[in-house]
Amino acid sequence: MHIGLRKDANTVKMKQKKPLRINIKPLKGRKWKLIHIFFPEANLETMFLTFGRNIYCALDITKDLLVHERVHIVQQKNSYLWAIWWWIRYIKSPKFRYEQELEAYRAQYRYLCKENKDRNMRNSVLREIATTLSGPMYNRLVSFEQAMMDVRSE
Ligand SMILES: [Zn+2]
Repeated sequence: MHIGLRKDANTVKMKQKKPLRINIKPLKGRKWKLIHIFFPEANLETMFLTFGRNIYCALDITKDLLVHERVHIVQQKNSYLWAIWWWIRYIKSPKFRYEQELEAYRAQYRYLCKENKDRNMRNSVLREIATTLSGPMYNRLVSFEQAMMDVRSE
């Protein structure tokens, strides 16, 4: 599924027992630069950010990224109030940040593996995810090798 960005938020209905409310919204404007206080390496042009019911992004969201961001939506209990609590912990605690991202990247990786039966393709997907997860965007939480191991493990 491919979701194009519109001026107004799109509402994406997901299949599950209790449907989540997810809005895709554009990430634009100067206020977003405040993210650089906590994450100086974050690229506002390419990043996806979840808050409660909203996914903010400058690019069109792909299905695998939707799987990833959906995990954060569930972690934030699909609630703006919980999202505030989640973001405070996410900023303050590298351990919490890693746990939350690991859950999201595992789901994204599993989804991509379902779509890709090719071993080399899966391996390059895993390497790409481990590079991002261990990289400067999240302030270098773990080594590349550790991220590889953690994403791959069940
Ligand atoms: Zn994430």
